[in-house]
Amino acid sequence: MSSDVVTQPFSKPLVYLIDDEPDILDMLRDVVELSGLEARCFFEADDFIKEIQGFGGNNILVLDLQMPKVDGIEVIRHLAKVENPPELILISGQDSSVLSGAENLALAHRLTVRGTLKKPLSLARLRGLLELQATTPIKRLKDDVKSSVRVFSAEEVREALDLDQFVLHYQPKEELALSGASKYSAECLVRWQHPTEGLVYPDRFIALIQKQGWMADLTNIVLNQAAAQQRKWQKDGIRINLSINISASDITSLTLPETISRLLADNELDATTITLEVTESELMGELTASLDVLTRLRLKGVSLSIDDFGTGYSSLLQLFRMPFSELKIDQGFVGKMVGDMEALAIVKACILLGEQFHMRVVAEGVEDQATKTLLAELGCQSVQGYLIAKPMAAEYLAEWLLLQSESEGQVKD
Ligand code: C2E
Ligand code: MG
Ligand code: MG
Repeated sequence: MSSDVVTQPFSKPLVYLIDDEPDILDMLRDVVELSGLEARCFFEADDFIKEIQGFGGNNILVLDLQMPKVDGIEVIRHLAKVENPPELILISGQDSSVLSGAENLALAHRLTVRGTLKKPLSLARLRGLLELQATTPIKRLKDDVKSSVRVFSAEEVREALDLDQFVLHYQPKEELALSGASKYSAECLVRWQHPTEGLVYPDRFIALIQKQGWMADLTNIVLNQAAAQQRKWQKDGIRINLSINISASDITSLTLPETISRLLADNELDATTITLEVTESELMGELTASLDVLTRLRLKGVSLSIDDFGTGYSSLLQLFRMPFSELKIDQGFVGKMVGDMEALAIVKACILLGEQFHMRVVAEGVEDQATKTLLAELGCQSVQGYLIAKPMAAEYLAEWLLLQSESEGQVKD
């Protein structure tokens, strides 16, 4: 599940450290304590496993994969059988494919992986991973729904659509190469304000809405709320481009360009103040119909962004013949690019493609300063992620922007 800034309390995790090298263990303990957390050290995985039964929730395990007796992979297998396993930070001195393999294994066991670190360790990155909020979704397999999480029925979701229980939260994006425009824009992310369960995140309802054929209803709600909010901000003198997620079924509806035009006119908005994001993996289904709709949207001045770029296995030729103005590199690559040669190579290739095809490149899932600095050096134009800010309710965004402008002297007119 995701966590937004206004909704999740933060309780301090206990950090377990397993490494057979005493020097490294000492160093790890120092970093943990510097982060204001409590460390429990183990030289041998065996000793740790004996303690496994005593876990409370909300803890972290920093695990070296190579150890002489019981190795990290065996620890992962043990954790898979435990209730409330700790979230993992995996360490290895071997090449990055070993770390990715271990990470995938952990994810397949439905464990949460905060991140991976290659030796020699970047202490700043370790600290960043330790200081992420404990309830962050981190990296889970796409279809992961913990068994303790109740699955909603189609009737419940239908009722929520009819009763207008969906709200938008906004996550800032920061421009790295400022060209006169505002420094910040924001992505609109939908949440279900459930009457008894609190704020429910899209991974628990989007797929169901899609399956039931109700996406047009949700998109309609999202578009209307985003436009009304944009209008309000503009009246308050706040200028911020909004990105709105739409889905494949929306872009094959031939009336979408007219719907958007009407919405913009009704709210007295300029088309250049919104961007529509479509996930790459959804793009290729109905090529002709979507080309028609996307081209007409561009003609009306709306920007279009390919979301989760790099995960869709689509034909690059077909993709770049579509009228997109932006690509968003998937957070799966961005999150690992510092210290993982393969992820870094993919990020570089995406930035190069963006340059060649005159598209803005946005990196999502930026969680630490080292990643942001590297992205800036590589020529990425815009960053989004927990480092900049978590998604937040509209009233907090206005306040957040104000604080940024106070420290930087911009954003507002
Ligand atoms: P997305 O469009 O790729 O949105 C980015 C997701 O990554 C959001 O999750 C956001 O909270 C999360 N995120 C942002 N920064 C970080 C970070 O630094 N680290 C990590 N680990 N995660 C980060 P969220 O809000 O749960 O949304 C998930 C997906 O649901 C979205 O992915 C999008 O595909 C879909 N979605 C959200 N809102 C809408 C909507 O209004 N309409 C449609 N059709 N889909 C939506
Ligand atoms: Mg998106
Ligand atoms: Mg995305």
